[in-house]
Amino acid sequence: MPISNTQHAQFMQQAIRLATENVTSGRGGPFGCVIVRDGEVIAARANSVTATNDPTAHAEVNAIRAACAALGTFQLTGCDVYTSCEPCPMCLAAIYWARCRSIYFGNTAQDAAEAGFDDSFLYAEIQRPISERSIPIQPLLSDEAVESFNIWRETTERIDY
Ligand SMILES: [Zn+2]
Repeated sequence: MPISNTQHAQFMQQAIRLATENVTSGRGGPFGCVIVRDGEVIAARANSVTATNDPTAHAEVNAIRAACAALGTFQLTGCDVYTSCEPCPMCLAAIYWARCRSIYFGNTAQDAAEAGFDDSFLYAEIQRPISERSIPIQPLLSDEAVESFNIWRETTERIDY
């Protein structure tokens, strides 16, 4: 059954409420995320970067982890993401890795930038050649590192993802 506009709004309102309560409770940043499958909320989480000393604990990543734990899977096929703010590059990538179906966002990246959460430098950084990135990045021991890939390719009992 398709999700109605009313349901869409309710899921987004839940994400926004999480974001607001995260601030008013003093727990952290103004970000919330709800993951839904078949019209049912699988996980709802807020940002917990400062509360848990985890720079990757954005609302979307937290919600993906909780949803995967709840469903006992590493892929969220058929799941919709309702996030109070347009995802940053890390969260966008996580949503793609999780194979979610669609994304709805409240605030835009521009709104986030105006509130002090500017991730445009990350989007710009990704587009730069690695030789021009602000964090130096270079290959090292490639000949040794490839061994794990060779073994992976030869392993028949692996779980592909
Ligand atoms: Zn993020």
